[in-house]
Amino acid sequence: MKLNNYKKILLNLLFNEKIYRSQLEDILKITPSTLSYLLSNLYKKGYITIFKDKKIKAGRPKHLINLNKNYWKSIGIRIGREYISLTVFNGKFEEEEKISIKLTKKDMGNKSISNLLEKVIKKVSSLEEIKAVGIAFSGNVNKNKVNSKILKLEDFTPKIIIKSLMPHVTISVLNDVEAIATEEFVKHGGKKIVVINYGTGIGACFYESHGIYERNERKVIELGHFYAGNNEKCYCGATGCLETVASDYANLKRYKYQNLNIEDFITNEEMYYNELKELRNIYKKNEKKAKEIYSETFNYLAIFLFNIMRLLDPEKIILSGEGVSKWFSQNLERKILSISSVSIPITYRGLKNNIELGAAIDATREYILKSEI
Ligand SMILES: [Zn+2]
Repeated sequence: MKLNNYKKILLNLLFNEKIYRSQLEDILKITPSTLSYLLSNLYKKGYITIFKDKKIKAGRPKHLINLNKNYWKSIGIRIGREYISLTVFNGKFEEEEKISIKLTKKDMGNKSISNLLEKVIKKVSSLEEIKAVGIAFSGNVNKNKVNSKILKLEDFTPKIIIKSLMPHVTISVLNDVEAIATEEFVKHGGKKIVVINYGTGIGACFYESHGIYERNERKVIELGHFYAGNNEKCYCGATGCLETVASDYANLKRYKYQNLNIEDFITNEEMYYNELKELRNIYKKNEKKAKEIYSETFNYLAIFLFNIMRLLDPEKIILSGEGVSKWFSQNLERKILSISSVSIPITYRGLKNNIELGAAIDATREYILKSEI
């Protein structure tokens, strides 16, 4: 892809929280006067802000460049089994507004999800200011069509709904693990990373960056439906999937409901929210019991992560999602160390808005790439 210097500057600002003028000169390999010309045009359009860094007292003043936080407004939406959550971000990716709707089993399906998506978008106070919308699903996304057993979506096309409410925006449709991987890359760096999203489902994404001007390689790995053994039939149609033996569903079975089956569980997930919460916090009160419940899960995950490491050789593995805690991550790491001589760098990230943020960043990037500057 051939990018002009305007787009290169904007992408650098998108992928870095702050950047000095002098850094831009080095990155773009242009003279100070060319950069002045480019920056002044971007400034006139309201795309960027430029200010003197007051922290540096001696010598020539250093100028910091940022995306103009009032110009670059974006929305990140996450559609999962439990909630539809929407966050409005400004150009600094600070949260400006947050709207969320709790979902139950009657909310699943194309028709119902469309209505709720419309409802949640209509609540946003200033739709006309939004430039880009990123929307992430727990499910399979292919050419902007979403298929999800969990959400009961079949060839669902969210772009049509969003376009009808905001015809002017750039839209990016992605899987939730892709969104987490994008956020991880932008906020924490790394050239080759694997993100695991762990909860009642298990998803993974391999993310490889070829520099910020190139499209990054993202590969969703349906880890939850890799074969793990045993003979439980999974909701995906296969038998013995990893989710049936090592997800929070499996942990919940070991904790309280021996006779639960995965299809019933995903249909009626909201009936188990309290128990899931209990389960995820049990280590705080009774670590011994937590270890008993999770021990088999750690065994399975250790094997799968170790193999992924061998296969893809990432710099780090990120653990994210409702089902993980610091305790979970440390114990899993210990388990992996016990079977492998090489340590695997696991980073625990939890789930702090990273799906919405990642989706919004992805869409803003698309907006910059498509724009006519
Ligand atoms: Zn499956």
